[in-house]
Amino acid sequence: MIEIRNLSKTFDGKQVLQGIDLTIDKGDIYGLVGVSGAGKSTLLRCMNGLESFDSGDVIVDGVHINRLNKKELRYFRSGVGMIFQQFSLLERKTVYENILFPLKCFKSKMNNVDQRIREVLELVELTEKIDVLPRQLSGGQKQRVAIARALIMNPTILLCDEATSALDPNIKQSILELLKKINRELGITIVVVTHEMSVVKGICNKMGVLSGGKLKAAGSAQDIFLNMPDLLDDFMGEENY
Ligand code: ATP
Ligand code: MG
Repeated sequence: MIEIRNLSKTFDGKQVLQGIDLTIDKGDIYGLVGVSGAGKSTLLRCMNGLESFDSGDVIVDGVHINRLNKKELRYFRSGVGMIFQQFSLLERKTVYENILFPLKCFKSKMNNVDQRIREVLELVELTEKIDVLPRQLSGGQKQRVAIARALIMNPTILLCDEATSALDPNIKQSILELLKKINRELGITIVVVTHEMSVVKGICNKMGVLSGGKLKAAGSAQDIFLNMPDLLDDFMGEENY
């Protein structure tokens, strides 16, 4: 469970998040939407301690992450996976080495590493690509590797920042299906930052609407789509439907 209480953040004196209160329950697929510059990525980064904030609290499974020391924060982060629009794979390393990378970073003492890497690759249906370099993969396949890399640490939370925005519609759909499967089969809580309503409609049970650093609405995605279409029009633009 991720609880955000009265969170505010400024960059260079400019308020980018203001009084955010938000609860994401275990097992949710939570959509964070809003136009460019609304504060979506910043809020997401506050959830795994990648970004500091000026006031308020971020509490994950009872742990106040703003009260953790450096070492504790590092351990906390090892249990939160993250994927990005541009995949962020290591271009000179193979798929295997990319997935191994977090284990090295976090100095994990995991046993049966080879077997575990094969398991996560199987989950993302990419076993046959284990020894290739990222440049030999399509965009969708790269994102599958990034997801496998995020899963290797057995995260309880997966944060996705515009993870499907660079992909063609069919490929996008297959990645969204994969996220649903991960949520369903591994019980991982997923937070999806997107400017695309179709993504939220496709996989999210709950959503929050950010505008100018404030949370304009939060709750059941179905309720918000049904009861606040004007709000979504205002903040998202009709082309997103
Ligand atoms: P997009 O959809 O374009 O990714 P976003 O909703 O993710 O936008 P953020 O990246 O969270 O928006 O940015 C929110 C605000 O904070 C913007 O005004 C942005 O310019 C500012 N901002 C973000 N990162 C920094 C930074 N490192 N230094 C200064 N300002 C920043
Ligand atoms: Mg962003």
